[in-house]
Amino acid sequence: SSPIHIVGGGLAGSEAAWQIAQAGHPVVLHEMRPVRGTEAHHGQDLAELVCSNSFRSDDANGNAVGLLHQEMRTLGSLILKAADAHQVPAGGALAVDRNGFAAAVTAALEAHPQVTILREEVEGLPPEAWGRTIIATGPLTAPSLAQAIRDLTGAESLAFFDAIAPIVHRDSIDMEKAWFQSRYDKVGPGGTGADYINCPLDREQYDRFIQALVEGEKIGFKEWEASTPYFDGCLPIEVMAERGPETLRHGPMKPVGLTNPHDPTVKACAIVQLRQDNALGTLYNMVGFQTKLTYSEQVRVFRTIPGLENAEFARLGGLHRNTYLDSPRLLDATLRLKARPSLRFAGQITGCEGYVESAAIGLMAGRFAVAEARGQALAPLPATTALGALIGHITGGHIAAEDAGAPRSFQPMNVNFGLFPPLDHAPKGEAGKRLRGPEKAVAKKKALTDRGRADLAAWISGNAAQVAAE
Ligand code: FAD
Repeated sequence: SSPIHIVGGGLAGSEAAWQIAQAGHPVVLHEMRPVRGTEAHHGQDLAELVCSNSFRSDDANGNAVGLLHQEMRTLGSLILKAADAHQVPAGGALAVDRNGFAAAVTAALEAHPQVTILREEVEGLPPEAWGRTIIATGPLTAPSLAQAIRDLTGAESLAFFDAIAPIVHRDSIDMEKAWFQSRYDKVGPGGTGADYINCPLDREQYDRFIQALVEGEKIGFKEWEASTPYFDGCLPIEVMAERGPETLRHGPMKPVGLTNPHDPTVKACAIVQLRQDNALGTLYNMVGFQTKLTYSEQVRVFRTIPGLENAEFARLGGLHRNTYLDSPRLLDATLRLKARPSLRFAGQITGCEGYVESAAIGLMAGRFAVAEARGQALAPLPATTALGALIGHITGGHIAAEDAGAPRSFQPMNVNFGLFPPLDHAPKGEAGKRLRGPEKAVAKKKALTDRGRADLAAWISGNAAQVAAE
């Protein structure tokens, strides 16, 4: 049978190649290093970790990425197998000896009889003659391929920066201070006129907030990032604040068209708006708040906003060089490009974030591709599993921004419990006791991971022919 081609031998491409090969299907992996390098990779091994050596928490009983590790192990992941074999001590985290890890992934693929590795850059789109192809070229996709993808999908479809506004867990916002309302009560498509959560600041709070933004510690751009211009719609919030103290209250923090129901007589000096970020309504993003402030400064400064004093962040803001697709619009539920279904995408270019997530999407892209090559349909993963929740974020669960002028709204994300459907019932303590505070949060996370595990097991047994688990 004809091989499946994969472009890019990073975390995602290596995992996809392994999954296809283990299913007994031939695969050709095209990796441009060492013929051509990227700004962040240093070596020539496949699956090189470009920065930290951590795969984050390995706790499968209360952490979303820990659950994702476990699901990947269950499905025979090469990346997790190599990580486990090259683990270094890191408390509850899974951290690895990066050289040993990458060498093990490379050796396993080189030794596999179904795998051919070609060290070459794929320039422009892969030829049609290759048939089924997975593009897994990552955040630093080589320019000629990136340009060709842009030409195929439209200029708005491929970003070169992620301008990330912080995302907050809805249930951590204090609705005694904040309120739901759309500006001028405008009802957009699918909206109710009360689509945003609004947080009001008085003059004193606003002035202090602006000062904190200007004085806060920021992360610098890397030299090669600074040479990529960022467009005006994505200016970091602190850069806007530096342009003058009134800039933000005439921009993303303008207080017009909104009335505070908790105190209708008082006019706010500025208002922070949060917009629903996922179909479940569990996550809200801070509109226009992309930032280069350090993570600890973001938490400190953003918690001074009334209503966000106890905000829990599903992710903090950032602005990085990152090539990624507007996947919810462009990809189908099995990661195929709607405009050319012989092409699948995997890894960070699909809009997931991080080593583990990229490998996880590679795992599923490989499995989808091989099932399709055999004329079998692979049932979608339950949204309650970490893999299913992550794919849901990429291919559909996201709410598109309706506001004219708003920056593109699909933002790369790590796996987190905000992407999972909420539990049907709040977990109870011993003898049916109602839980509160930290105890409740722990029980909730445990219940979410238990549910995910049970649903993955059911999916595997229901798809036994297509899913050979280890
Ligand atoms: P990659 O691992 O980047 O693999 C893509 C591969 O495709 C590369 O080997 C590249 O050489 C190859 N390639 C590109 N274009 C072509 C082409 N046209 N033809 C052939 N081959 C091609 N994530 C974390 O979890 N923790 C971190 O600390 C972290 N730090 C990061 C720091 C930087 C500077 C950057 C840029 C990213 C960082 N990330 C981090 C994100 C990380 O890069 C991804 O999570 C992960 O590597 C993505 O996996 P991937 O397989 O999608 O892409």
